[in-house]
Amino acid sequence: MRLEGAPESGNVEDRRGMGGKLAVGGGVGGILLVVLGLIFGVNPQKLVGPGGDPGQKGEPPKDGYKAFAGKVLGMTETVWTEQFQANGLGAYQKPHMVLFSEGVRTNGCGDAPSEVGPFYCPADQTVYLDPTFFAELEQKLGGSKAEFSQAYVIGHEVGHHVQNLLGFSARTDNKRKSPQQNEYSIRLELQADYLAGVWAHHADKKYKILEKGDVESALKTARAIGDNRIQEKMRGRSHPESFNHGTDRQRYGAFSDGLKTGDASKAKMSLYFDEGATPFNPRTGELQNTQLFGN
Ligand SMILES: [Zn+2]
Repeated sequence: MRLEGAPESGNVEDRRGMGGKLAVGGGVGGILLVVLGLIFGVNPQKLVGPGGDPGQKGEPPKDGYKAFAGKVLGMTETVWTEQFQANGLGAYQKPHMVLFSEGVRTNGCGDAPSEVGPFYCPADQTVYLDPTFFAELEQKLGGSKAEFSQAYVIGHEVGHHVQNLLGFSARTDNKRKSPQQNEYSIRLELQADYLAGVWAHHADKKYKILEKGDVESALKTARAIGDNRIQEKMRGRSHPESFNHGTDRQRYGAFSDGLKTGDASKAKMSLYFDEGATPFNPRTGELQNTQLFGN
């Protein structure tokens, strides 16, 4: 992945090294987990002491990660600002990003341990990320920790921010505790994968970021974190009725389609929530729409 031409966002805060050990007791509420919550189980947990709060002692590692994440976030800012304008979606409000280690205290979504994986907190309009996630992704799930694969995950979380701004998240929120809860979680997650692809399409056009092998690394990750793959790895078999992120095939398909088309029109995005055009098959845990996912 080439990042020389990419603008670095000023909206990244590095809280790594500030502590944030967790103990059982509190809760992780209202956050959109990318994936690891499913695997490790998001136990209700709580930060011990003041850890994870800004202003604590401890130095973030000087490993260049803040600059990397800042460049990826910077490219999401320019791309989504342009795409919101070009598609009549209103003014794009840039999200924030917090890098943390071990655990983090959010403002509006409670405390979260690293095990939940990267997540977006709508109340804070902030993406929270512990970069050590990517080593776990590679070792435990057979994903890739290559830079563009990491950029895809960040693009997915920023996709949740876009969904929040455009009102798609509210459609899923409205189905919470209803029989359609998992179906609407899948609709939201696959749309976020699509939006990550749309971002990458335009980022590559503007900044020529893609190098040989990059797309394959992200697609490898998209496949590795499909619900069916994760469940097969962790439980020996998969249970479509409990899927909430989409199958490997569909995550791969949604990201590929976004990357290929770069279509940020409301009409295209809305297909993910259109029960008529894109029905849900509870038996397979998949959405059905050949335009979005092929056959
Ligand atoms: Zn997600």
